[in-house]
Amino acid sequence: MQPILYIVIPCYNEEQVLPITCSMFLEKIKSLVQKEKISDDSRVLFVNDGSKDKTWEIIKQLAKEDYHYKGISQSRNRGHQNAVLAGLMEAKDVCDITVSIDCDGQDDINAMDAMVDAYLDGCEIVYGVRSRRDTDTFFKRFTAEGFYKVMNWMGAEVVFNHADYRLVSSRVLQEFANYKEVNIFLRGMFPLVGFKSTSVYYERHERIAGESHYPLSKMLALAFDGITSLSVKPLHLITGLGCGIAVLSFIGVIWSVIVALTGHSVAGWASMTSIVCFIGGVQLICLGVLGEYIGKIYMEVKHRPRYIISERTEEKETKEME
Ligand code: UDP
Ligand code: MG
Repeated sequence: MQPILYIVIPCYNEEQVLPITCSMFLEKIKSLVQKEKISDDSRVLFVNDGSKDKTWEIIKQLAKEDYHYKGISQSRNRGHQNAVLAGLMEAKDVCDITVSIDCDGQDDINAMDAMVDAYLDGCEIVYGVRSRRDTDTFFKRFTAEGFYKVMNWMGAEVVFNHADYRLVSSRVLQEFANYKEVNIFLRGMFPLVGFKSTSVYYERHERIAGESHYPLSKMLALAFDGITSLSVKPLHLITGLGCGIAVLSFIGVIWSVIVALTGHSVAGWASMTSIVCFIGGVQLICLGVLGEYIGKIYMEVKHRPRYIISERTEEKETKEME
């Protein structure tokens, strides 16, 4: 019995892209079915993330055209990570494997064959890793690679150059469902679940149409979310910084006492002001980082739902009626 595959695709304002890429996903499912690697019960599951354009209408139309297409719609825009999570949780009880992929055609869909092969060889998680970033602009490449380096340095372990193109088995998803946190950073959380995993390399292409929804500001927010939800290293760094400054202050105190005792002291307004400013600045930074963590705790204790599905496409009647 072949495994059932669900391709989970988050879509936010993608009316320009979806009509082009939807058939690529369908063809992939059909070709994998033909190669007898997956079951014909496999589906392309679109997650509409509260789009303001015609994306949901397009998805509903697709679901009417072919029974392999399915769609769910979030009640509002919740961001890429929550959209992927909604899709994975929707799929976990009805399939054996999921592959999450963006809908803009940037991730090479043909890498999915190797992913499925790796699953058939016994891997439960297969990370899609970009081998090159030639098509990205220098700025995007520089900031994106910096992102992974900073993340790892800050203690949030992520697979280098892996975004959210990955195969995850339903077995892993059942365990993953117990990770109840609200601040989710999927690419850093799946390695925590464990199980046998491997990587598949692919080349990332340019967006087929439309524009990226991930400008630098969103990427920085994602990095910050990743670091603060996976690691407490910033807190350790603050402690280290505090210790360093304490030592310096101690030396400063001894120095000023010596200067005062030897009678060379001058009423130094400038030095006093700079010291006060410096200490004030450091304290504010530290308070800010502490505040970020308290903010996260605040959000976590609320236990709000992480996604709300408002609509589902209707299942196209069985294949016999085709
Ligand atoms: N996306 C989403 N919700 C959002 C932003 C983006 O579901 O709030 C989806 C988007 O439709 C796409 C994927 O997430 O399928 C990746 O977004 P994008 O291509 O804009 O990011 P980039 O590839 O430039 O990092
Ligand atoms: Mg993209």
